Amino acid sequence: MEKTLVIVKPGAIQRGLIGEVIHRFERKGLQLCGMKMIQLTDEILIEHYAHLAQRSFFKRIKDSMMITPVIVCCWKGLDAVHIVHEMAGKTNGREAAQGTIRGDFSVSVQENIIHTSDTLENAKVELARFFSNDEIFDFEQSGLNFLYANNEI
Ligand code: ADP
Repeated sequence: MEKTLVIVKPGAIQRGLIGEVIHRFERKGLQLCGMKMIQLTDEILIEHYAHLAQRSFFKRIKDSMMITPVIVCCWKGLDAVHIVHEMAGKTNGREAAQGTIRGDFSVSVQENIIHTSDTLENAKVELARFFSNDEIFDFEQSGLNFLYANNEI
């Protein structure tokens, strides 16, 4: 089973969409393994968004991620990284497909509700960035036999 990171961004916190976002991943059948509210800092955002450091909007996205605390969550499941990333949709909320979280709740490139890890390798790095080992819980998910066929798990 894979684990992946979701950050519920300040825009979603202010718009009252925390429950909606969590609910979607729960209903999909993913298991919530860790969750907390944290205040992001310039230092951690420089690290998290290092691939965007040279972009003109770098300061703007860092600022928007610090307007309120965020919710960081760890979700677990078979192919969880791909599933969660696809459920988020394209970066630009105006282009994201209807039915995806960004497609349904965002009309912006920047204000796009959530961050999700894009690869398994990045998920591992990002989870370690935001969670200590004792904040990620490994416990048996009840109903696993109804979520997966027994040759899948
Ligand atoms: P994603 O979050 O879809 O993986 P990126 O890693 O490219 O996308 O970008 C990180 C975040 O930076 C985006 O989710 C979005 O909030 C913001 N962003 C990306 N591109 C732009 C842009 N051209 N203008 C403003 N904000 C942007």
